[in-house]
Amino acid sequence: MPELPEVHTTSTILNKLVSKLVITDVWSSYNSSFYKGKENIKNIYYFKKFKKEVTDKKIIGVNRRGKNVLINLEKNVTILIHMRMTGHLLYGAYSKKHRFVRLLFNLSDGKHLAFSDMRKFAKVCMIKTNELKESVDLRELGPEPLENNFNFEHFKNRLYKKPNGKIKQVLMDQTIIAGIGNIYSDEMLWISSIHPEMPVKKISEIKMKNLFKAMKEVLKKGIKMNGDSMSDYRNPYGEKGQFQNTHKAYRRTGELCEKKNCKGIIQRIKVGGRSSHFCSRHQAI
Ligand SMILES: [Zn+2]
Repeated sequence: MPELPEVHTTSTILNKLVSKLVITDVWSSYNSSFYKGKENIKNIYYFKKFKKEVTDKKIIGVNRRGKNVLINLEKNVTILIHMRMTGHLLYGAYSKKHRFVRLLFNLSDGKHLAFSDMRKFAKVCMIKTNELKESVDLRELGPEPLENNFNFEHFKNRLYKKPNGKIKQVLMDQTIIAGIGNIYSDEMLWISSIHPEMPVKKISEIKMKNLFKAMKEVLKKGIKMNGDSMSDYRNPYGEKGQFQNTHKAYRRTGELCEKKNCKGIIQRIKVGGRSSHFCSRHQAI
């Protein structure tokens, strides 16, 4: 599932590619009766409104908040895309015939912005730009972990909102900190030698500091490597990211731990219903 580094990569590249272009048409094959009455383009009536609203509008820029891509249009309209499990945004020559393309924007340069979503779990809707912060999708999100003012004290205070929570689950809770998911949380816990089920309040000050450092480090590395494509993430050029080649814990079950002199084996357990990978020796509880 795309996390902060993938969503950052997508929005940064798209911002360069599509800013100042005009959306000349929109097509979608999403249509599900489960979304009746919902503000989501999977609701066919909502999609009609969406199409009318975004067509002939100029794209001002593309950014993100948490795991949401935000395409800002002129006249106070923003398209919000949450890519969920398998979604990715592509720029180039695409058509309805491309496999897994569920949503297609025609652009004024003759190219397309295509949304590929194999498992159809994504969410796409429009929000008034001046109401974004208060919108249902964004208002409960925690702070951005890579903002300069997100310091150690702030980090610790956020985690202590759930003092009895298991650290892996708390890190992935979007209302505590925005943008962290399964892959990057496994990697930051491996680096800082913390068991994924360790309750927040039992983590020592030193380990907490190490975790804070590891969080910034791992997310920045993910961005530098253009994201993680162990699932099927692609950047807007259709290229894979490289972070998956650097995993120390995530999906390395049964392998020898790479930490110096550790000699532990990577284990997998479920934490809050999600797979969690860790070394039972240097991340012992
Ligand atoms: Zn180890």
